[in-house]
Amino acid sequence: MNYYLWTIGCQMNLADSRRVAEELQKLDFQEAGRPEDADLVLLNTCVVRQSAEDKVLGRLTSLKSLKHKPHGRSAPPIVALMGCFVTEIPTLQRRYPWIDAFIKPSDIDAVVELAKHQAAAHPMDEISANPKFKIHPLKGISVNPKSVGVPISYGCDHACTYCVVRLRRGPEVSRPVDEIVAEVRDLVAGGVKEVTLLGQNVDSYAFGLADLLEAVHQVEGLERIRFLTSHPAEMSDRLIGTAARLPKVCEHVEIPVQSGDDAVLRRMGRGYTVASYRDLVARIRAAMPDAGLATDVIVGFPGETEAQFEATYRLLEELRFDVVHVAAYSPRPGTPAERLTDDVLPEEKERRRKAVDQLQERIAGEINARLLGQPVEILVETRRQGKWQGRTRTNKLVFFPVGVENWTGRLVQVRITWTGPWSMQAEVVQP
Ligand code: SAM
Repeated sequence: MNYYLWTIGCQMNLADSRRVAEELQKLDFQEAGRPEDADLVLLNTCVVRQSAEDKVLGRLTSLKSLKHKPHGRSAPPIVALMGCFVTEIPTLQRRYPWIDAFIKPSDIDAVVELAKHQAAAHPMDEISANPKFKIHPLKGISVNPKSVGVPISYGCDHACTYCVVRLRRGPEVSRPVDEIVAEVRDLVAGGVKEVTLLGQNVDSYAFGLADLLEAVHQVEGLERIRFLTSHPAEMSDRLIGTAARLPKVCEHVEIPVQSGDDAVLRRMGRGYTVASYRDLVARIRAAMPDAGLATDVIVGFPGETEAQFEATYRLLEELRFDVVHVAAYSPRPGTPAERLTDDVLPEEKERRRKAVDQLQERIAGEINARLLGQPVEILVETRRQGKWQGRTRTNKLVFFPVGVENWTGRLVQVRITWTGPWSMQAEVVQP
């Protein structure tokens, strides 16, 4: 049996897809390169913004013909949709009758049940003898098999007025420490070197993120730990201190600010002010002076004036993040902000989005230029276009020349020889 898995969205979706792929492979399913070659087609979806939802709708529609014309195969594939697109199932069933199953986000057990059902209904037939059949490595979702996302909590208890995630993923549920540590231990036994502890809001992890970091830190053979996403209203000094003290925890913090204006933050329901955010960044930088800081920004939130946008722009200029994920606001069904008038015109949203992008290109270029000639430690991820690709502890992408050996998963000391805003080039100092 073969499966085809398409994934879009956040790190949590990528982590869910990795676990789905692992479970399917335990059931002897193999990855097909195209949906046409699969017995089970899975779309792991995202609807955080309209643009993501549009991509899901495109994929979903393109699968319709597959159900009617099974491309010479003995039976059409089972087509299932999981992730944040999945809301009221009876409505979805009526609207998309060619989809066989709708599975709630992160419900890996439901996928396994479906796969077992499909395998029982269609025992191995001519598929494996089909000369066109291709086995592909887990594309996209395991570009770096040495660095893996591990969910520590599901869902979200925040009530950001623009965000659909809580409505689709439900309230926050934390996984027990033992379960997470056991998973990390298994991953490390399988060759993983770096884990990223994942949650919509990792700071509210029910059993204490600082204690979890201590526990995961003890896993022998694990080299690096990251955690994301942090919430500015909840990131504690204890967590910052623990992250700074533990050698395996990388100097990398993802802390979405969303806006640089207090009135907009209030209407977004974010629960902090610009002053408290600024203070938090200062405390992070005091504890981890060279930390790579990333943030998220939404431009064109309902009612955002030019002056309010400029306040965001100035805050980004002042705080100088390493990475800024900027998005134009799009109303999401069922959210409180959907009831506000979406009064910033699309072209104005785009102008603001581009302005932030251009500012960030300059800032990231300047920050990275300071690394020229410096030695840095890289975890080698993969080989791409004739070069090794890896990341610094601060999460910066670095390329360096390929030697004869396979260095995937190795920690390598390199010296930076060229810098740009999005990546750097290096030479090996010490393999
Ligand atoms: N839990 C994180 C947080 O504290 O915001 C991340 C949530 S979301 C999956 C990732 C990002 O998508 C958000 O940080 C926000 O910038 C963006 N986003 C969420 N809803 C949006 C909307 N309606 N329009 C545009 N961007 C949105």
